[in-house]
Amino acid sequence: MLYEASQEDEDRVRIRLFIVQGCGCQQNCSKKIEGKEERVLIHIFNMREMDKTDKDMYIMGSLFESSEKENTKRGKKRLKSTLTYTYLDTKICKKTFMLIYDIGKHSLRNIVSHLKTHGKIPRIHGNLGRRPKHSLKFEDIKDVIQIVVNFSEQYGIP
Ligand SMILES: [Zn+2]
Repeated sequence: MLYEASQEDEDRVRIRLFIVQGCGCQQNCSKKIEGKEERVLIHIFNMREMDKTDKDMYIMGSLFESSEKENTKRGKKRLKSTLTYTYLDTKICKKTFMLIYDIGKHSLRNIVSHLKTHGKIPRIHGNLGRRPKHSLKFEDIKDVIQIVVNFSEQYGIP
């Protein structure tokens, strides 16, 4: 991985700042990553190295949707769906999730809406059927697979 020192420092400061300022939710998730800054930093870098589809799938794999019945004001029951954000099997809030998974509000919203509509299957991107400009060569594919394997081993994803 080749990152400019400045970028790495910037990310480090961003994580530090997040921990100091807090995520603002009741679970205080920022405390959960305190002392694990390096791990979070590596996670962020790994996210950036990932292919878009892999990143999508990995993010979807860390989101869990559950629905429970709740009573409406009129006394009727309705299904309320809740989304749980996780990191290393720990529940975290959306804000913390966005930091650790290096994802913006907009992209996350797209992934969540895809997840709710289609379930945990890959999103089809705009260039389906067309040959992407950067068609993967066999060597590249091998690299990608290796990255995913290493990543899975490191973070214990089945
Ligand atoms: Zn939080």
